[in-house]
Amino acid sequence: MIKKDAVVSMSYNLKNSDGEELGSTDANKPLTFLHGAGQIVPGLEKALEGLAVGDKKDVTIGPKDGYGEFNPELKLKVERKQFPADTEIKPGMQFKANTGGEHDHTFQVMEVEDDHVKIDGNHPLAGQTLYFNVEIVSIREATKDELAHGHAHGPDGSHGH
Ligand code: ZN
Repeated sequence: MIKKDAVVSMSYNLKNSDGEELGSTDANKPLTFLHGAGQIVPGLEKALEGLAVGDKKDVTIGPKDGYGEFNPELKLKVERKQFPADTEIKPGMQFKANTGGEHDHTFQVMEVEDDHVKIDGNHPLAGQTLYFNVEIVSIREATKDELAHGHAHGPDGSHGH
């Protein structure tokens, strides 16, 4: 049964409210994670609690329990000179920055103008309702290393480091 500190492998299919597929894995290449460690979005973690191997479930997750509400204040236009002069700034580049809150946001460069750069610190899936279809492939106890690291080391726990 899935509970805190279990290592879970699952296949899943993720769609948005338009029915567009945002990501998936199949049973041959499942996603493996340490349950209760925040490796997956909080709403999905909650919904998987108590499931057993072979269980399938449809889970709908609102933005708050998914990748967060869209925050317009994280869409910024900053001066080009705030970036290192010797670094080429291109759309799609990502970097971490702190805007004065308690944690860093990952920003993505959206557009580069002559003197300014438009950046967005929202997760690409922020503000979206997520429709997961999951199937539990395996469940095992976490190893000591996995618990210490706060993440899973692959389906059989041998992908250590
Ligand atoms: Zn590790």
